Amino acid sequence: MIQAENPFLSIATPWIAGLTPYVPGKPISELERELGIRDSVKLASNENPLGPGPKARAAIAALLGEIGRYPDGAGFELRRALADHHGVSPTAITLGNGSNDVLDLIARTFLQPGVESVFSEYAFAVYPISTQAVGATARVAPARDYGHDLDAMSALINDQTRVVWIANPNNPTGTWLAASALRSFIGSLPKTCVVVVDEAYTDYVSEPDFPDTTNWIETFPNLIVTRTFAKAYGLAALRVGYGISDPRVADLLNRVRQPFNVNALAQAAAAAAIGDREHVRASVELNRAGMRQLTDAFARLGIDYIPSVGNFVTIDLKRPAGPINDALLRRGVIVRPLANYGLPNHLRISTGLEQENARFIAALEDVLAA
Ligand SMILES: *Cc1c(COP(=O)(O)O)cnc(C)c1O
Repeated sequence: MIQAENPFLSIATPWIAGLTPYVPGKPISELERELGIRDSVKLASNENPLGPGPKARAAIAALLGEIGRYPDGAGFELRRALADHHGVSPTAITLGNGSNDVLDLIARTFLQPGVESVFSEYAFAVYPISTQAVGATARVAPARDYGHDLDAMSALINDQTRVVWIANPNNPTGTWLAASALRSFIGSLPKTCVVVVDEAYTDYVSEPDFPDTTNWIETFPNLIVTRTFAKAYGLAALRVGYGISDPRVADLLNRVRQPFNVNALAQAAAAAAIGDREHVRASVELNRAGMRQLTDAFARLGIDYIPSVGNFVTIDLKRPAGPINDALLRRGVIVRPLANYGLPNHLRISTGLEQENARFIAALEDVLAA
């Protein structure tokens, strides 16, 4: 049908033509334009409600006059700041336009038609997209209690497996893997297979046996750890993240990377933000209070939720969440429906400022009572 109208469409690769795109959280501007309302709150994309810290803001302001020039394509200062922070060599670091960009570089470097990647049911939505975008095959392991089941994932690994994707903690479930289990899983993988540990929410986690896998890259040359400035660092709009790996792996990823994939404002803001531990501390503390506020309300209202170590929590409404989500939108509250994750009865709520959480709780009570 489409091909008859434009024959060029038929030459797209079948895997791109069949790709289901990522569904982002609804922007506030879009909701307000559609409904003609104001003062909406967005708790849909796990952003930091405090935004950037003072050091990042100052770094951006100081650089505004320079944006007529291309950024440093090698990201020298940012890579050096990250190397110092993590105690690794700058050659271990791959900068990305958001950590999603790094995930895509990994897919393009290690996947192709005929090979496979493995991830869990309910894992972050970018893993299937990056896999299919390069024509590789996704193998999805059933989850256990919503979390990654490492035994089920192991069972899917074979000669064709090239990439294993793990989000720790996982989004949208907020579940996590302890150090010992993850370490033995990585150690058990064939040497011909890369494992990606996506640590987008690591700063929020305080569980004592939660791993910092950036310490493992010397032990596991097939390990790539990804981190982002979009969550606890409050720089989501700037798009900046990074990978840490064996320098030989980073060298491969950097061959695929576009020369100016991270803009100058993002590089400067991120280098300042990594040193602003006070802002991270305040953000983590705000999240802890917000998580308590939300889960107390769920307990009071008799709503089931998946215990989460991230800055978001997923509730199970035991009935289709779509109409409830629509009713929340009409009340100016944006959260995240999860039907595209195979969770049609669930909504994911990011922690916000106290008054934003209160707006959501009041709107939810109102909707459920109606
Ligand atoms: C938000 C998120 C990311 C980060 O994406 P960016 O491209 O850095 O904004 C990566 N992984 C997971 C699991 C996430 O939830």
